[in-house]
Amino acid sequence: MAQGNFATAINCMDGRTQEPTINWAKKEFNVDYVDAITEAGPDKILADGSSDLVESIKNRVLISVEKHGSKNIIMIAHHDCAGNPVSKEEHLVHLEKSVETISSWNLGVDIIGVWIDENWKVNKIIERT
Ligand SMILES: [Zn+2]
Repeated sequence: MAQGNFATAINCMDGRTQEPTINWAKKEFNVDYVDAITEAGPDKILADGSSDLVESIKNRVLISVEKHGSKNIIMIAHHDCAGNPVSKEEHLVHLEKSVETISSWNLGVDIIGVWIDENWKVNKIIERT
């Protein structure tokens, strides 16, 4: 097992969401590192569930959980997402479905759905323990 405590972020590739997520997660979960799994509009990918990317994301989450001992998976949806350009309301629906998808993997870890708003502040929306 790697040194230090890890959390896992399934984040957008958007450069604006990386630091807010890492800073928030370090405090929220008292971890040293945040493993980053990034796609363009990951909430759409995991809500839809049909893309080959779902398996790719899952494989990377498994590495973070099994090799780094992560106990918290943070699922991110955010304001002004170019990869999933829908309203906040639709993002929150996608976020809920994404958490459902991750939950179906039965990893035995906590899953936290967050919304990153127009001020790049992280807001916890869903907590599945
Ligand atoms: Zn995005």
